[in-house]
Amino acid sequence: MDAAEFRRRGKEMVDFVADYLENIEHRRVYPDVEPGYLRSMIPSEAPLEPESYEDVLKDVDRVIMPGITHWQSPHFHAYFPSASSYPALLADMLCGGLGCIGFTWAASPACTELETVMLDWLGKMLQLPEDFLAGTKGQGGGVIQGTASEATLMALLAARCKAVKCVHESDPQRSEADIISKLIAYTSEEAHSSVERAGLIGGVGIRMVATDEHFSVRAETLEKMVAEDKAAGFIPFFFCATLGTTPSCAFDKITELGPLCNAENIWMHIDAAYAGSSFICPEFRPLLDGVEFADSFNFNPHKWLLVNFDCSAMWVKKRTDLIGAFKLDPVYLKYDNQESGLVTDYRHWGIPLGRRFRSLKLWFVFRMYGQSGLQAYIRKHVELAKVFETMVKKDKRFEICAEVVLGLVCFRLKGSDELNEALLKEMTHLGRIHLVPCKLRGRFVLRFAVCGRTTELRHVQEAWTHITELSSELQHAASREFHTMW
Ligand SMILES: *Cc1c(COP(=O)(O)O)cnc(C)c1O
Repeated sequence: MDAAEFRRRGKEMVDFVADYLENIEHRRVYPDVEPGYLRSMIPSEAPLEPESYEDVLKDVDRVIMPGITHWQSPHFHAYFPSASSYPALLADMLCGGLGCIGFTWAASPACTELETVMLDWLGKMLQLPEDFLAGTKGQGGGVIQGTASEATLMALLAARCKAVKCVHESDPQRSEADIISKLIAYTSEEAHSSVERAGLIGGVGIRMVATDEHFSVRAETLEKMVAEDKAAGFIPFFFCATLGTTPSCAFDKITELGPLCNAENIWMHIDAAYAGSSFICPEFRPLLDGVEFADSFNFNPHKWLLVNFDCSAMWVKKRTDLIGAFKLDPVYLKYDNQESGLVTDYRHWGIPLGRRFRSLKLWFVFRMYGQSGLQAYIRKHVELAKVFETMVKKDKRFEICAEVVLGLVCFRLKGSDELNEALLKEMTHLGRIHLVPCKLRGRFVLRFAVCGRTTELRHVQEAWTHITELSSELQHAASREFHTMW
């Protein structure tokens, strides 16, 4: 493909994507394929000779589209949203076109410098304490990680490094292996599985903290565990708080947990993967109160801030904690000006060396929507969730299972788990709307998340009508079965 063909095909691809997104609501949101469906549809080896672009595109329709779960559909209510917007898509295209890899400042100065400034912009939008911003002379700063999972892992590894150093200073005889074997991290029993996984990857013990009736971790509970562990010779070193848990969007009480962690020399990381975007609205910003006690904070613009995957924003109060943890300087990555003190080398801030120019997406989206446009978008989703909650509450057959704070509604049919499982199974089978479940206090609960950029009131109403109709059918079928039994 030469530049002339790329021009033509590129314009066609833009049309293809725009057509797809404009008509997405007419598609079945959840695909009707079985595991392994794809292998038999394409050859078992890569072609020896080049094929035509037309043939490739034909197979996108034939092979790929039938196996797509349409995350951008207004009928998609599973998990949490996966952000998408036209400005971000265009920025991503530019990023691909530039094709630079910004691991050091010199590897592409604009890539590094825009990222630093965009994370400051975003930090200011969230009213993060000054400490977290890079500014021109601050000690903090932001970085774009690929995912919240990576941010949590980086925070845990940096905390581990700091803890080992700290213990080693007071007790130089102790080996690093011995110290690490005694380290204990904590997180909520409601935390995302990536936190427990970070503990496994980081090779440290991790304990789950029980939550209160609102599914929030309280300082009292953590304090007891820390005291027990210290008495048993362990070294508490890391607590990952969650603002907006994945099952029910619950918020750990960081205003009381923060002071405890600070007093105990425990690194507090905040995972606000989903909820973080809402903190740009003054009315939701109180949910972030207590962030001033944190050592690191992270959320995913790629979930709810109209920036396509991947873009996870992370800030640290002391960037030397992160950068210093795993610093290596091979000759081939050295350059002039490196020691000027003004440059950032993002390769020290995360796990991979190579990194894409992801801040372009933030820049385009911030400028094309403005802060007011982004706030309006968040507010609309929260309002739609409230509408759904109200409809659930009006139907006596259902119950709400957790407080609705943002764009997620946890609900269930009053009755057995089996009944609710059957309801979800039927919904998934029909593929008109897509939801996933969660477990709350051991019970099977349905999660309705407002996800799509184009989700409107009518979609939410249609979804509720569909759910109530399916529920009536299920309940009739159940009572028929009951009568035939007798
Ligand atoms: C979605 C989610 C994650 C995982 O996000 P990734 O960016 O995919 O790693 C982590 N924590 C919470 C609370 C989440 O909701």
